[in-house]
Amino acid sequence: MGGRLILCSALLLRAEAETVEWSPRPPIYEHLGQKSLYPPDGTVDLLSGSHCDLSKRSLGRTWLVEFYHSSCPHCWYFAPVFRQLGAAYRGSESVHVAACNCMEKENQKACDAMQIYRYPTVQVFQAGEEGAKKLFEVSHTDKDGRAKSAAQLLAWLEEHKLPKPLHPEATEQGADFAAATALAPGAPPGRPGWSWEYHAEDERWAEAHLGLIALLKSYNGRQPPASLLRVASFVAQNCLHGCDRYHLLVERLHSADLRDATTVREEVERWGQLFGRRKHLFCKDETCAVWQLFHVMAGSVAAAQFGLRVNSGGATVAEAMDFFRQTVDHFLFCGPCREHFLNAYEGCSYGRCEVLASKQDQAKRLVLWLWRLHNGVSLRVLREHPPKEAVDRRWPTYRDCPGCWNPRVVTGEVIEEVLPGAP
Ligand SMILES: Cc1cc2nc3c(=O)[nH]c(=O)nc-3n(C[C@H](O)[C@H](O)[C@H](O)COP(=O)(O)OP(=O)(O)OC[C@H]3O[C@@H](n4cnc5c(N)ncnc54)[C@H](O)[C@@H]3O)c2cc1C
Repeated sequence: MGGRLILCSALLLRAEAETVEWSPRPPIYEHLGQKSLYPPDGTVDLLSGSHCDLSKRSLGRTWLVEFYHSSCPHCWYFAPVFRQLGAAYRGSESVHVAACNCMEKENQKACDAMQIYRYPTVQVFQAGEEGAKKLFEVSHTDKDGRAKSAAQLLAWLEEHKLPKPLHPEATEQGADFAAATALAPGAPPGRPGWSWEYHAEDERWAEAHLGLIALLKSYNGRQPPASLLRVASFVAQNCLHGCDRYHLLVERLHSADLRDATTVREEVERWGQLFGRRKHLFCKDETCAVWQLFHVMAGSVAAAQFGLRVNSGGATVAEAMDFFRQTVDHFLFCGPCREHFLNAYEGCSYGRCEVLASKQDQAKRLVLWLWRLHNGVSLRVLREHPPKEAVDRRWPTYRDCPGCWNPRVVTGEVIEEVLPGAP
């Protein structure tokens, strides 16, 4: 209840402070057949196709450019801030503000050429006869990983000799970065709770499939080719439905030229077409679908360990842990998410180091670790980016499973007590 009151009052405070559109998931615009986090005709110029490769363009002025991935949550959070920067430089003769969505197929080659390997990446370019030259990169977070406001970014840009904007006041409104609340990990999800939804196994699997495709399509040739094959092989080995097709993907990747990122992405896309046109069923984007892939994989490995799967022969828990770590490390397209995950992993958070500590109950510990981790991330999102509407993403809701929100279960102190004997 305490957590609920804190959340509600924080939301009221935020509502008063808000003057620009600010939400964890901003609207996605359509422009010339591409998705965009920025509205067409807004203060941020939309780049696409070969225009995203600034090294090939002789441009007047200095360019402040964001390369993003429209499914990366940190890009969503950053979008209103970047829009404010765009508004500050509106009408400027010397600085041009633009963005390129590297998730779009037509832009990927240019993003590869610009060596964009994490999102969001913000860079400043100087115009030149032979194409623009990169001057420096702008970090959207401070050294503690906290999001910078537009006013802070502007001050930093001015220190780095970027010309003064015409409308600096445009950065003074907007997101209230101090509005984080002290929600406790063990506190039950606040109102209205994430969902009363039940997702049948095949729905989760359909989402997981989209998560796999998104991960593989983030291949840019920099990851070890073997890691690509390992992700695909692990999913094929532990798959739930239509497994022959997943083995086919592994075969196709084995015979593809893995040094060429474009070939790999095209191969993955061709393979995806074998399933017809698939749409999200309950997720709204790829990060959610990646979670579904992870939960389904953990569940599938656990089911095989418990002898509940007909085709057992799935991976061990140790292999599953390695799969999660490697997949995030090499393929998770959201840079800060990747860092948070790896820090939590190395730091043994959410009971990670207890998963393999004893031979007993490894599969249960695996599933619980992932569940806690996901709820921990949802809590982080809630704290750092309080939504306008009170949605607590942690799962399940208190109403659905009051026992799950026993703080000791949530923090991992009572694994044996909650899961005695058989599953
Ligand atoms: C590995 C990873 C790390 C991430 N790290 C960050 C980060 O550090 N910061 C950040 O802002 N974003 C991070 N994200 C993104 C964030 O978790 C969400 O995916 C994103 O905000 C989209 O949220 P969503 O509303 O679709 O809900 P999501 O959390 O993506 O998915 C919600 C769905 O998942 C299910 N679900 C929710 N919780 C659980 C659970 N505990 N167990 C089982 N099923 C559950 C429910 O069915 C629900 O419908 C990360 C994503 C991944 C895959």
